[in-house]
Amino acid sequence: MRIEEDIKLGFKDVLIRPKRSLLKSRSQVELSRNFIFKYAKSSWSGIPIIASNMDTIGTFNMAMVLSSFNLLTAINKYYSIKEWCIFIKKTSRKILNNIIVSTGISHDDFTKIKKIFSLSKDLNYLCIDVANGYSEYFVSFVNKVRNYFPDKIICAGNVVTGEMVEELILSGADIVKVGIGPGSVCTTRIKTGIGYPQLSAIIECADAAHGLKGQIISDGGCSVTGDIAKAFGGGSDFVMLGGMLAGHYECNGKIITNNGKKFMLFYGMSSKSAMNIHVGGVASYRSVEGKTVKLPFKGSVENTIYDILGGLRSTCTYVGAGNLKELTKRTTFIRVNEQENLVFDNKKDF
Ligand code: 5GP
Repeated sequence: MRIEEDIKLGFKDVLIRPKRSLLKSRSQVELSRNFIFKYAKSSWSGIPIIASNMDTIGTFNMAMVLSSFNLLTAINKYYSIKEWCIFIKKTSRKILNNIIVSTGISHDDFTKIKKIFSLSKDLNYLCIDVANGYSEYFVSFVNKVRNYFPDKIICAGNVVTGEMVEELILSGADIVKVGIGPGSVCTTRIKTGIGYPQLSAIIECADAAHGLKGQIISDGGCSVTGDIAKAFGGGSDFVMLGGMLAGHYECNGKIITNNGKKFMLFYGMSSKSAMNIHVGGVASYRSVEGKTVKLPFKGSVENTIYDILGGLRSTCTYVGAGNLKELTKRTTFIRVNEQENLVFDNKKDF
C-alpha cells in the first residue's frame, strides 16, 4: 500500500483568476478550434463540446441540433444498422462530420462498426468506450481497430492517469477520454472506492497526451458552464457532457407529467434502468454503478447550448483569451473553499 500526499483537485476546489484583457466584447471570442489528429491525419473544426454517448443523450436528434452549432455528438451504440441506414440517408454531410460512432469492445461490436462505417465515408469519428480503460484486452482492441481503420479519428477511454493515456495513444488512439467516477449519475466511487478528481485528471492526462501529439476529452463532472470553462482551462481539448444536456426534447426519454409539471428520466449507463433495457437486468456477478433521476423537462437543448456558449465566451473575456486554446494558456486556478452564494438557492429563478 502507498499513499500519494499531493492534493488532487475537482472543479469545486478552484476558481479561475481574472486577468487584464484587451477584448472589448464577448462577441470577439472564437470558440471554434481546428484539430489535426495524430494518426487519422484529417482535421476537424468546430466547438469541441461533445454530447455523451449515453443512450438518453447521444441521440440522432441531439446530433441534428448540436451540429447546427458545430458541436459534436457521440451517438450511443444501441442504434440498429437499419436505424443508421435511415438516418444517414436523410442527413447532410455536415451533420455526419460532427458525429462520433460509439462502440464497446466485443466481437459483435467490431462487426457492427465495420458495417456502420461502410454506410458513409463522411463518418470520421469512432469512440471506443469502456468504464474501465485499464485492461490489456481494451488496449489490444484499440490497436486492432486502429489497424482496420487507419484514417478514422479514434477516441478511447476512460482512464485518468498519464501512463495509461500514453499507452492508449501509442496503441492507436488519437484522443483519450478521461474520467472515472465524476459523472452526475455515476456511483462508481461509492460502489468501488475508485476515482480521481476530474480537474487533476485533466491536467495530468492533457500533459501526457499533448507530449505525444494526442488530445483528451474530459468526460463527466461538469454541472455548470463554469466547470466546462475549468476543464478547458485545465488543458482539456474536448469536453463531454451528459447531465447538462439531459431533460431536453432531443433526449431519448419519455416526458412524464406530474401535477401539471413535466419531467424526464435520466439514468447512468451502469444503472439498473439501463441494464434492464439493454441486457435484461443486472447480472449476478456485478453491481449497479449508476443511478436514475427524474429531471424537470427543459424544452429544446438549443437554449441550453446558447447559455453554455455565452458563458464560455464570458470566461474568455475575464482572462483576456481570444479563443479556447488561449484560455488554457491564460488560466491560473486559485484554490478556494467557496463557490457560488446559495442564500436564495431554494427560491425560483424568475
Ligand atoms: P455527466 O456529464 O453527466 O457528469 O457525466 C457523463 C459521463 O458519465 C458519461 O459520458 C460517462 O462517461 C459517465 N457515465 C454515464 N453513466 C454512468 C454510469 O452509470 N456509471 C458510471 N460510473 N459512469 C457513467
